[in-house]
Amino acid sequence: MAEPLIKKKESLYLRALKQWQKAADIIDLDYSVRTILSQPKNEIVIHFPVKMDSGEMRLYSGYRIQHNNILGPYKGGIRYHPQVDRDEVKALAAWMTFKCALVDIPFGGAKGGVTVNPAELTENELMRLTRRFTHALGSNIGPDYDIPAPDVGTNARTMVWMMDTFMNAQTAIQRNSQRHVVTGKTLTCGGSLGREKATGQGLVFVLRSWADENNVSLSDMKFAIQGFGNVGSNSALLLEKRGAKIVALQDENATLYNEQGIDCQALSKYVDEHRTIAGFPGAEVVNKSEFFALPVDAIIPAALENQINKDTAKQIKARVIIEAANGPTTEDADIILKDKGIVVIPDILANVGGVSVSFFEWVQNKTSAQWSLQEVDHKLGNKMRQAFHRTLEEAKAHNVDLRTAAYIVALKKIQTAYQERGIFP
Ligand code: NAD
Repeated sequence: MAEPLIKKKESLYLRALKQWQKAADIIDLDYSVRTILSQPKNEIVIHFPVKMDSGEMRLYSGYRIQHNNILGPYKGGIRYHPQVDRDEVKALAAWMTFKCALVDIPFGGAKGGVTVNPAELTENELMRLTRRFTHALGSNIGPDYDIPAPDVGTNARTMVWMMDTFMNAQTAIQRNSQRHVVTGKTLTCGGSLGREKATGQGLVFVLRSWADENNVSLSDMKFAIQGFGNVGSNSALLLEKRGAKIVALQDENATLYNEQGIDCQALSKYVDEHRTIAGFPGAEVVNKSEFFALPVDAIIPAALENQINKDTAKQIKARVIIEAANGPTTEDADIILKDKGIVVIPDILANVGGVSVSFFEWVQNKTSAQWSLQEVDHKLGNKMRQAFHRTLEEAKAHNVDLRTAAYIVALKKIQTAYQERGIFP
């Protein structure tokens, strides 16, 4: 049969669905729980106008998808990226449900996004877009109902705009007790110490647990990291501190390689100024297509979905892949990696440090407390190690990969909550 002229994009939501349903089959998940989890509870789509600096008005599309809240308020990031669509946000929202259950924090799963390239907007335009979107979301978000956080293309500054807009729409009496409507804020505006690096820090804790299990020392390992944004750069800096060599880095604009290790401290300063790794003098530039074939022990995809696909998976020589990004590995790539004996530490485990410290920030806001960085890191370390070991136990018990095992841990917890509460009415 001839190839269709218009190829349908693979549904990310369908991939997420297949991933957890594989685990559901293994534990014979209750039919009603399976049915409830198969669709999000709420899907909010908003088309909203924003005034550009030129005076022109543009219409943007924004999403907030609330997948499940059996374990607590909806929780999940807000993404600003040109590829954002309803299917992507649905998948990301579902993954949040499983992450929170796996790491044992009392939140459900949600995600949001706006289809926009933030690099093309000025600071003022971004502020107006954020405020208008937040206002349009209205009471669909709230400190005890649905709590956004940063993701690709958003950061602490975006969260503070969201918080301020939300607070200004409350009554005077309520206004000051609503800071925890978002997490990932700046320290001055109620953020937590350690939140900025939390996803990278959590990933390093999980990787250390894996390394201990396998008698590997991180300082002997060479890494390739895709993405040098919040998650990629913090993972790189923390691994470098532990003596690991980051030999390859890729962002949207360039792929860099240095067999002796790239100086990530210096690169981080360079990126602060230039917004990209392109042009950094401490490494050679290699072709984008060579990235996954480079001789490394571990690869950390920390950019977007679908980066490890059936073509790139075939090139990979690494022993372990730690999924910092959400959904970086396609279904067929998973099979290829398994056949090659490459371990995948799945996204719902590897990147759960971010939402864990978001939970700590939320608790601190609710109790007007400020925890020290040591306290945050200590609590995060415990959470990540426990999640890793729970996953490993299920992997051994059912003889399955870590991805399926992580879903088993999460699904068992969600199923117990439904069994105890029953289905209303
Ligand atoms: P970010 O916007 O700070 O950085 C994204 C990075 O990816 C940038 O360096 C960008 O240049 C690079 N990139 C984008 N497209 C690319 C491409 N095609 N090839 C190579 N590089 C590309 O985003 P982030 O917050 O670091 O998030 C990265 C990933 O981690 C996402 O999948 C996100 O959902 C996930 N994640 C983030 C957090 C968090 O706390 N920020 C928490 C959990 C998971």
